[in-house]
Amino acid sequence: MPNIEELNNIVKKLQEIMRIQDWDIEVAIANKYEIKDEIDDDNIYGVSIRHMKMKTAKILLNKDHHPEEWYATLVHELKHIQSSDMLNEMKKNMNDKQFDSLIYYEQLTEILTKEFITLYPQK
Ligand SMILES: [Zn+2]
Repeated sequence: MPNIEELNNIVKKLQEIMRIQDWDIEVAIANKYEIKDEIDDDNIYGVSIRHMKMKTAKILLNKDHHPEEWYATLVHELKHIQSSDMLNEMKKNMNDKQFDSLIYYEQLTEILTKEFITLYPQK
């Protein structure tokens, strides 16, 4: 995994490609305990904490769970940021059952991530 400075530079470039330069995004490397504090699951690659109104986000990469997947994890979280306005709007009008259907949103995010990585492979 690159160091924090390199990771933040990579995110800046990816933001340009995804046209989300209006977001202030910071990357941090976290251990499984820090990840669990955020999302109550330490068995994930990473997580992003997004503040819609401020357009700020912090992406935590889990160094204890497949750190070699850091690039795919970054792209995946950036894809969530890219679609977060839409998701937020959808959530407002959803009941719990409809909310469960967001599994398809997660699947779509993963498909878009794989597509992006094919076009812009890790350097
Ligand atoms: Zn996701």
